Amino acid sequence: KKMNSRGQEKSNVMVAVRVRPLNEAEQMRGEQSVILCPDKRHLQLSQSGQDRLFTFDAVLGPETSQEEVFQACQVKKIVDMATQGCSCTVFAFGQTGSGKTYTVTGPHAELDGPWDPSYHGLIQRCLSHLLGLVHSAGGGITLRASYLEIYNEQVQDLLDPRPRHPLPVRGSRACGFRVENLSELELHSLDDITKLLEGLRNRHTSSHRQNERSSRGHAILTIHINRTGAKDTEGGATQGKLRLVDLAGSERVKETGNEAELLEETGNINRSLLALGKCIAALVNAKGKNKHVPCRDSKLTKLLSDSLGGNGVTLMIACVSPTAACLPETLNTLYYSSRAR
Ligand code: ADP
Ligand code: MG
Repeated sequence: KKMNSRGQEKSNVMVAVRVRPLNEAEQMRGEQSVILCPDKRHLQLSQSGQDRLFTFDAVLGPETSQEEVFQACQVKKIVDMATQGCSCTVFAFGQTGSGKTYTVTGPHAELDGPWDPSYHGLIQRCLSHLLGLVHSAGGGITLRASYLEIYNEQVQDLLDPRPRHPLPVRGSRACGFRVENLSELELHSLDDITKLLEGLRNRHTSSHRQNERSSRGHAILTIHINRTGAKDTEGGATQGKLRLVDLAGSERVKETGNEAELLEETGNINRSLLALGKCIAALVNAKGKNKHVPCRDSKLTKLLSDSLGGNGVTLMIACVSPTAACLPETLNTLYYSSRAR
């Protein structure tokens, strides 16, 4: 049995926290970070009365680069497991503006300037590692991607720019849940990622007060990794899956303060995040034993059910903002994610 550093049986769930740096506007206002990262496993809040020490598998302070996130969270290992036939999932969780999209996808190309490869997010890094593996295997591995958004409990295809009806989700005992008529893109080079990420423009955003670019949907990128086993003498055919999930903002409804439509939206977001929290807690508690993961409570958890209950690993990266103003949501995120481990 594998043990973790506390001598407990190791679970298949790893939880990291990333603290984003103060942005220009915050610095101009003279705001200061209220989060301390004393070492690579611990996080502390510097406000009086909040002296609790939080422990995570990895703590990524504001100076952590994109490459360091990839390294510290052992994402390469996760990708390797997927190429061996496992179903692995990486989530970014946290309030709007905390750095989820930056972590998963990289900075916003239009608003944050052109992309230098050093700013690449996890998606590009996973794909370039995968493409390296495909290349060195000399064939016999194919990569196919689908990219969808769950918005208000409805599924939209992010690879299909045409406005469309939501896609139906069907479930069967044998095959689990699947989305019908979802597009797939074969991935051969890093350029294909650019094509894929154009799908992001199709993402739902709503301009409520907190953040004009806030994403109100869960974006799920799935890379199907199929090995035929023909040229690869080390093993037979496998079908693995790697999912990268940019979750909707976790902020609570009272802080957005607005109309009925947004209330329904936030209700749906929180419902699926709650359902996800339950699934992850079940995974953590099961630790390799016969696990029952309650996936039927939301579209998000239904569509992730094959990886949440499966043979792979799950990495959750909780993203937090450094300011005092964000502290209530930061605490919310820290409690949510420390429950997961
Ligand atoms: P979210 O997706 O959680 O709403 P974003 O990823 O859009 O948040 O981040 C909000 C803003 O902060 C963006 O302008 C982004 O470029 C910036 N940002 C986030 N994380 C970092 C970081 N680690 N380093 C530098 N800028 C960051
Ligand atoms: Mg975002």
